[in-house]
Amino acid sequence: MIKTSDLCFSYPSGVAVFDRFSWSVSAGEAWTVIGPSGCGKSTLLLLIAGLLRPDDGSLLINGMQLERPRPRTGLVLQEYGLLPWSTVWENAALGLLIRGYYGHDGKHTPADEDLTQAKSRVDHWLERLNIDHVKDRFPHQISGGQRQRTAIARTLALHPDLILMDEPFGALDALTRENMQLLMLGLYAEHHLTHVIVTHNIEEAVILGKNIMILCNPPIGSVEIMVNNDSSWGTRGYRNTSEYLDRCRYLRNEMGVNGALA
Ligand code: ADP
Ligand code: MG
Repeated sequence: MIKTSDLCFSYPSGVAVFDRFSWSVSAGEAWTVIGPSGCGKSTLLLLIAGLLRPDDGSLLINGMQLERPRPRTGLVLQEYGLLPWSTVWENAALGLLIRGYYGHDGKHTPADEDLTQAKSRVDHWLERLNIDHVKDRFPHQISGGQRQRTAIARTLALHPDLILMDEPFGALDALTRENMQLLMLGLYAEHHLTHVIVTHNIEEAVILGKNIMILCNPPIGSVEIMVNNDSSWGTRGYRNTSEYLDRCRYLRNEMGVNGALA
């Protein structure tokens, strides 16, 4: 699904973030990418999303060189990106609006059945994510968890096959965060979309990542990859198992050894 080979990327300011970075993600895998602030996690997602272009090396999505953002890649950004003057429903429909399902005056441009389908897709995801009861409220009138769900609904309404999330739950309180993690695991179990979730939180990386990639200090070349494929991953009680604690400890050690936590 995603394959980078010898990928190089520097910002115009001269900060080299990736230097011959090779990584591969198969369709339907659930990855977390962990590393300290400034190591290049957001840059990696922007590259995969096609919003930044590599300087060198290759970046393939489904075997094709990525030239521009592709319709079926869903990106959920750090700050949710909700429009404060639009309701939850309108925010969830925003991606479809941008794709041209609705005119800005509320009138639709494509065929009636496309419009009906698009609307019901928004309704479906609001219901699935338990925010249909707040669909007429504005972002400042709902909780942080509900705002995050709205951003996720907007992405899922676009029918993605690849979901990229940048530190999605960092701003949430511990309990809401746990609920959101369970929600993501539930969605993964239902749809098996390819997930790449960036976090700087060790516990979150272990909960959400069946595969975990550790990034250290840039420029990032070879990577430390831990495959976390025990049978209890993704189950409700995983957080209480000794495997889970072992994985967290392993990750903490690895990151310490490699200087990521220094
Ligand atoms: P992370 O998401 O892991 O915190 P980033 O990918 O945002 O890290 O940043 C990686 C490195 O690139 C950092 O050194 C950061 O300062 C730098 N950087 C990020 N965005 C830009 C930008 N737009 N211009 C120049 N440098 C940037
Ligand atoms: Mg970041």
